[in-house]
Amino acid sequence: MGFRFGLGFEIGFGMDDIEFMSQALFEAERAMTRGDVPVGAVLVRAGEILARGSNVKTNDPTAHAEIQVIRLGAERLGTWNLRGCDLYVTLEPCPMCAGAGVNARLRGIVFGARDFRAGAAGTLYDIPRDTRLNHRCKVRGGVLEDRCLELLREYFRRRRKPGAPISGEAECKP
Ligand SMILES: [Zn+2]
Repeated sequence: MGFRFGLGFEIGFGMDDIEFMSQALFEAERAMTRGDVPVGAVLVRAGEILARGSNVKTNDPTAHAEIQVIRLGAERLGTWNLRGCDLYVTLEPCPMCAGAGVNARLRGIVFGARDFRAGAAGTLYDIPRDTRLNHRCKVRGGVLEDRCLELLREYFRRRRKPGAPISGEAECKP
């Protein structure tokens, strides 16, 4: 179960995690519909969703779901400092996104599926909890993991249909 924060609302790592991860999954499904890698994210503050986003296939290598919601959230709050905000994302953040979470001073990072190829929130690296850095985020993984993973598997299955280009399963390799 979660724990209480000074303002009296339940913060991450509790029952709300399921609800917010469901919202991140909804964003991942939207990405899937567009043909993008189905990774979705929401940024939550004081129990409310501040920003939503998903992976976008552009010429921008930083266009990951986490970066989208961190940028949007910071814009909406009018500050780079997102203390008190929790990031929910369907796939474990990569080093870039975990680093962005630390730079944004996120309070918590909650993810769905682990990423054995690029995970930087406990799998290959543990950037959010690295005591050498100037900020640490609480981390919880495995929330609605099966659904998050199934969506990614479905995406890569479709891409491998006859005639489809075979590309590396960049993410999601349990
Ligand atoms: Zn990333």
